[in-house]
Amino acid sequence: MSFAAEVKQELLQCVPAPCCENAQNAALLLFGRMFSAGELSLLTENAAVAEAYAAAVRYFSGVTPGIEHTKGGNCKIDVTDRVVTEAAAAEVGVFLRAGKKRLRPDAFEKLCCRESFLRGVFLVCGTVTDPDKDYHLEFSAPSGGLAEDLTALLEAVGRAPRQMTRHGAHVVYLKNSEEIEDLLGSLGATETAMQVMGAKMYKDIRNTINRKVNFENANLARSMAASNRQYNAICVIERKQGLKSLPEDLRVLAQLRLENREAGTAELAKMLPEPLTVSGANHRFHRIQKIAEKLEENE
Ligand SMILES: [Zn+2]
Repeated sequence: MSFAAEVKQELLQCVPAPCCENAQNAALLLFGRMFSAGELSLLTENAAVAEAYAAAVRYFSGVTPGIEHTKGGNCKIDVTDRVVTEAAAAEVGVFLRAGKKRLRPDAFEKLCCRESFLRGVFLVCGTVTDPDKDYHLEFSAPSGGLAEDLTALLEAVGRAPRQMTRHGAHVVYLKNSEEIEDLLGSLGATETAMQVMGAKMYKDIRNTINRKVNFENANLARSMAASNRQYNAICVIERKQGLKSLPEDLRVLAQLRLENREAGTAELAKMLPEPLTVSGANHRFHRIQKIAEKLEENE
C-alpha cells in the first residue's frame, strides 16, 4: 500500500463529530471529479475512498450509488439520477456562494468542521509522497476557483500552501515537512504524521553524521599529507647528511616522526621530552623542511 493510501486509511477511521459530518461529506462530493445539479462523479484508485464517496451521496440523498470497477483498476461512481444529484447539490449548496461552485468564506463556524472539510478534500483529491523520499502533499482541485478557496481555507488554519497548474489540473500543495506533519495530524492521521516527523529526524541525524564524517575524513587527509611531507623532508636530510647534522631540537622531533609515521603533529608534539604546542611543532617541522629544500637545491 502506498504511503498516501495508508494516510487515507487512517483518515477514514476518524469518526467526524455530528457537527462535522455535513462538512466532510460535502467536501467529498464538491472536490470529486464532477459536481453539479445534474451529475456527481468520482474516479479513484482507492476503493475505500470510493466507499466513502458513495456513503456521502447516501448521506445527502438517501440513495446509495453503485461502484463500478474499471479495467484500469479504478473505482468509478457516476450518478445522473436528478432526484439524487439535486438533493445532494441542495445540501452541499449551504457551503457555497449563491449560484456558484465557490466556497462561502464563512462556510465553517468551528475549527473542527473546517478540519473535517479538509479531511474530505484530502480523501477525494489529495495525495502525499512517502516522507522517506520527499516532502510533498498536494490537492488536485476540480477548478481554479475551488483551488483558490482551498488555499484560503488552508491559510486560515495556519498553513502556507502554494498553487500551480499541471496539465490543466489546479494543484494546491505543501512542501514543508513540518506543515505536512501538522496538517496530517490535524486531519486525524496522527500515526502517519509521526512517520513524517520520524523521517525528518532520521534525515537530519543522517546529515549531521555525514557532515561529521566528511569533516573528520578531510582532517585525517590533511594530517596524513602533513605527516608525509615531514617524513619525506626528514628522509632527504638523513640521506644527504644524516640526522646528526640537525640542531638538537629538530633532531629529536625528526626522530619521533620517523618512528611514528601515522601520528598527527599534535601527538608528536606531546611525545617530545619537553612537550610543545602544535604550532611550536609545526614551526620546527617548517625549519626541517627548509633545510631539506636547501639540500635538494644544492644537488
Ligand atoms: Zn464540527
